[in-house]
Amino acid sequence: MGIVVQKYGGSSLADAASVKRVARRITEARRAGNDVVVAVSAMGDTTDELLDLANEVSPLPPPRELDMLMTAGERISMALVAMAISDLGFTARSFTGSQAGVITDSVHGKAKIIDITPGRISEALGDGHIVIVAGFQGVSQQTKEITTLGRGGTDTTAVALAAALGADVCEIYTDVDGVFTADPRVVPLARKLDRVSHEEMLELAASGSKVLHLRSVEYARRYNVPLHVRSSFSTKEGTWIVPDPAEGEQTMEQAIIAGVAHDVSEAKITVVGVPDKVGEAARIFDALSDAEINIDMVVQNVSAAATGLTDISFTLPRTDGQVAMKALAGLQSEVGYEKLLYDDKVGKVSLIGAGMRSHPGITAKFFSSLAGAGVNIEMISTSEIRISVIVDEADVTDAVCAAHASFDLDADEVEAVVYGGTGR
Ligand code: ASP
Ligand code: MG
Repeated sequence: MGIVVQKYGGSSLADAASVKRVARRITEARRAGNDVVVAVSAMGDTTDELLDLANEVSPLPPPRELDMLMTAGERISMALVAMAISDLGFTARSFTGSQAGVITDSVHGKAKIIDITPGRISEALGDGHIVIVAGFQGVSQQTKEITTLGRGGTDTTAVALAAALGADVCEIYTDVDGVFTADPRVVPLARKLDRVSHEEMLELAASGSKVLHLRSVEYARRYNVPLHVRSSFSTKEGTWIVPDPAEGEQTMEQAIIAGVAHDVSEAKITVVGVPDKVGEAARIFDALSDAEINIDMVVQNVSAAATGLTDISFTLPRTDGQVAMKALAGLQSEVGYEKLLYDDKVGKVSLIGAGMRSHPGITAKFFSSLAGAGVNIEMISTSEIRISVIVDEADVTDAVCAAHASFDLDADEVEAVVYGGTGR
């Protein structure tokens, strides 16, 4: 008998029938003798629909009100799941993030969890209840306002609860059987990984794989939470996210490449004709940092000898595009650049694998596979265990499929089942 934390995503809770199905699955874990705490996402595409609605009402909704609106989605799920559980002869208590003790900083839309005070959860478990917590939300210690953790944040709610409660396992239930070598919606021959290390999963999540929220993986690594990603539509064993292998053991067992991830949520900005002098790049990126914009890749060209001018390109979330262009426009006279170019028809394709540390030739093989598919590379960045390229958005699928095949990741026959979800 231990504590099991489960998370159910929106596609597992698409309608009344799936709410009842999830409730049965939850009570099975309870029947097996565990204390069960569940974090739920909003039903189906509710969060996107609420966002669309907000944008119809107002072009720039105040972040506080947007969080109030979006957290409603998870509250609907938590109450319905608790009702369905009580029909099965068990008792459940649902809690908002705030009631559950999810304490965050005060940044609306992308708040970070700073503490969990799970008093009410422990009490409810002690009274024999199954606990359902609304995911993706918390309350700011400082402002007392309701916050959200960023899209996909319910994974992080679940892992943070598991860490705070000392749970035996955190099970992430989703609409595919686990973590795959590529998004099965794009590469039908993608293979399920039985195990993937924290560092590889962090790179996959940071590179656009949506199966786990990035911060949930950071949390799991920091607090040693055993994480199991699996389908709510099957009883198959999923993917275990496991500690990084010790030095030396690194390549003995590990595959060279864990997978290929892609991301079409970024845009590219080019600052054309920047004077090649000390301090100009700092000025540009200071302005972006003041606007709270996270930069991903950066490339600065060699300056043309005749003009002493250079171009600086970088990528950032598309949702921050307008704010960034405005911040940079304000710098034109100070920096003296020529013009700004904005391109949101780009995509990022990343090859990830801890084994690339000790295997030469991975970069060459990756680039040849892209060349073979007729894909032009616009920008490149690397980490120790990742190579990412920016390409035309229209080439993303070809690029992912080509890299996947070239590293022999294709399964012999289709094993990936996409059980639900619109992939939205
Ligand atoms: N409902 C939120 C979203 O769609 C949070 C989540 O699903 O984890 O982003
Ligand atoms: Mg969702």
